[in-house]
Amino acid sequence: MAVHSVTLIGKSDPVAVGKIVCMGRNYVAHIEELNNARPDRPMFFIKPTTALQSIEQPVRIPPYSKKARHELELAALIGKPLRNCKESDVMAAIQGWGVALDVTLQDVQDELKKKGHPWEIAKGFDGSCPVSKFVPASQVPNPQDILVRMKVNGQMRHNDSTKLMIWKITELIADASRYFTLEPGDIVLTGTPAGVGSLEPGDDLDMEIEHVGHYHSTVAKG
Ligand code: ZN
Repeated sequence: MAVHSVTLIGKSDPVAVGKIVCMGRNYVAHIEELNNARPDRPMFFIKPTTALQSIEQPVRIPPYSKKARHELELAALIGKPLRNCKESDVMAAIQGWGVALDVTLQDVQDELKKKGHPWEIAKGFDGSCPVSKFVPASQVPNPQDILVRMKVNGQMRHNDSTKLMIWKITELIADASRYFTLEPGDIVLTGTPAGVGSLEPGDDLDMEIEHVGHYHSTVAKG
């Protein structure tokens, strides 16, 4: 059986990944909206480990989609089990931070949502979760205030601080742990900032999360 793993910088062995828990859109568009009412609870979904690929590998859009979009997200690599945990337990259980791309097939997802069907094939297909190497958690002084930035063909798309999250990292991971026991090697994607846009074959991708990493990739042609 294939083991899907990621690299934690400073650790010689790769970290085997169990599951990838993702959050629906989790940022306010503008800082002045911070005090607005938020949804009742965070919305989670899961990507299989077969969705993983290196963030430096070209993104491949499957042939059944004509409209893919990018969501650049801060990813947490879990280091200790969390089950129905308190917010105060969360930070000590995170062993690393990474840069992740939640590749979404907008047209496929819209169609499936319309029918009330599950939309895994729009967000969980092979290669739908490019991730970077993870930096040790100690290298990111305040993950709740770092810049998430993405340019496509030189044009700015995402450019917001993680302080604009509606559900803070500790809140969303504590909440996720009520439904899914988080185990060492699990990855949590913390939601996308404003600036989601389309991905076209041949696009040049420039992705950066402050203190975590700066990566380049492309969208594969055909
Ligand atoms: Zn996302």
